[in-house]
Amino acid sequence: RAKLEGKGTFRFFEPAMGAQIRERRSMEHDLRNALENGELSLVYQPQARVESGRVLGFEVLLRWNHPVRGAVPPSVFIPIAEESGLILKIGEWVMRQVCQEAAAWQRPLNIAVNVSPLQLSSEGFASMVRHILDETRLSPERLEIEITETALIRDPNRALSALEKLKALGINIAMDDFGTGYSSLSNLQNFPFDKIKIDRSFIQAVHTKPQAAAIVRAVLGLGRGLGLPVIAEGVETSEELRFLGLEGCVEAQGYLFGRPAPITELTSLIFGNAVAHPQC
Ligand code: C2E
Ligand code: MG
Ligand code: MG
Ligand code: MG
Repeated sequence: RAKLEGKGTFRFFEPAMGAQIRERRSMEHDLRNALENGELSLVYQPQARVESGRVLGFEVLLRWNHPVRGAVPPSVFIPIAEESGLILKIGEWVMRQVCQEAAAWQRPLNIAVNVSPLQLSSEGFASMVRHILDETRLSPERLEIEITETALIRDPNRALSALEKLKALGINIAMDDFGTGYSSLSNLQNFPFDKIKIDRSFIQAVHTKPQAAAIVRAVLGLGRGLGLPVIAEGVETSEELRFLGLEGCVEAQGYLFGRPAPITELTSLIFGNAVAHPQC
């Protein structure tokens, strides 16, 4: 773009681009120490049955509270962690924290952990998970990993072999953000998924775009045909929930059932009656 607009324009943009790169480097530098400094934490968001609101488990989401910048969103720091390789160490910490936490719960609720492409394709990922399962004595069937299609694209053979090792441990694999990637359908055919998560963008447009409603219906039909459970992400309103119930969607997650929260705020769901009352 700079080239098209000529040399003068390029010089004009240069300082701004330099600032962006410096900003990124500074964040990468700080992220390197964030774990040791106790700046990373986990929040848990309920996943519930559409019909009853009964909580089935939680998705675990990483938070970074930077001493100067404050809360840095995952959309900013996860890509930095990926590109710098830091996600390997951070991801292992997440997995260990979550398994330790969930193993201590009275109710055998499920936990879903996001795993990035670099983690999945890293040497020894499955054995790291196996080690943590042994160490924490968490039943593998309670653990689900969520991966997006970008994790499958770079090296499909490597991804497949990693997923097969994970499946052999007895854990579940969910396809995250379904419908937003490339060639979703062949991925469902070629990789051993146990669950489909319909991307939030479709749920949020269900009452404004007829196309979104049609896509949600089609994905639910696909799940039925493949024998895979489908969970809807980003459910915010009771109208969206009603639509999903009518269309036969069994599970949902979203602000309607609860925002991601520290585990200390969720003890009534874990030790109590485990019903998330839709906030409507
Ligand atoms: P994701 O896995 O698709 O997670 C769902 C995102 O949607 C979360 O954003 C969650 O807070 C948000 N969300 C949930 N319900 C609603 C809703 O009703 N409305 C709206 N508007 N948003 C909702 P978050 O926490 O900002 O995370 C963003 C992404 O960062 C995640 O997308 C995931 O890809 C990545 N991420 C988060 N934690 C981790 C982690 O521990 N490891 C890795 N590798 N990636 C992570
Ligand atoms: Mg996810
Ligand atoms: Mg998602
Ligand atoms: Mg999403």
